[in-house]
Amino acid sequence: MDELVAIGRARKLVQAIAAAPVDVDALIAAHGMVYKESDRLGPGEAGNTVTKGGTTYIIVNKNDDPFRRRFTALHELAHNVLDLPSKHASGVTDDELERFVGRPPEEKICDVFAAECLVPAHLIKPLINNASFSVDLLLELTRTFQASRQCIASSFVRNSKELVAYVYAEAGVTQHVIPSAALRNAGIFIQGGMLPSTSAASKAMRAAEGFATQDLDASDWSTSDKALHYACYEEALFVQAWKQTHSLLTFEPVASSVRATEVGDDSDELLPELTGYLPWPKR
Ligand SMILES: [Zn+2]
Repeated sequence: MDELVAIGRARKLVQAIAAAPVDVDALIAAHGMVYKESDRLGPGEAGNTVTKGGTTYIIVNKNDDPFRRRFTALHELAHNVLDLPSKHASGVTDDELERFVGRPPEEKICDVFAAECLVPAHLIKPLINNASFSVDLLLELTRTFQASRQCIASSFVRNSKELVAYVYAEAGVTQHVIPSAALRNAGIFIQGGMLPSTSAASKAMRAAEGFATQDLDASDWSTSDKALHYACYEEALFVQAWKQTHSLLTFEPVASSVRATEVGDDSDELLPELTGYLPWPKR
């Protein structure tokens, strides 16, 4: 079972849904299971599935936030629908679900399935068509779909035709990079490791500000040769818990590298106007 199969199964499940937010209870009921919230789960335990007297219950932690509960429930449904045994012995832990780090492959597949059900492609596509990849839109869509920022940002990128990428980091270290198909085709690969010090995410984290933007060279984010011909605009969100940063990157071809050759000698005249000084002594 790979992610594409899981995505296909999820899409089939939600294809008839006409509007967000998705009714999670109804999806679970349609599979003959019962959704329940409980405050008896251990602290840090997000959910599990139990069968009692012939009825299967998906139980989620009442103390988790509402978006989290929706995701957990669909993650549990995924184990059942995809017939993937759970690799979390005593239920999903909060920590595991929130963070992308060190998840077993089966768990990641169930996460992908849950995200695809929570944010159906056919419902998000019309909302992101021609829209810029901004924090404002991200927050608006989290409310529309009642899903987490990670969920929405990943879905945006997967369904976008533009040169965009989503980078999730903790304490300045990249945990997850999702490039759009267009960005991959352009040959721009985002490097992992430490966040670029010039990035909006780094800026927001240093200042402990919730939001920052930055105009960058694409090569700040990517060591790919192709990146030299692109600029990058970044909007970043910083969240205190685990020092999370969410970077929304939009790439654009640099027009000046094309124009400079067209303009020829006139380009000398443009330099003072753009920078205020000539970077090289004129002979
Ligand atoms: Zn699981």
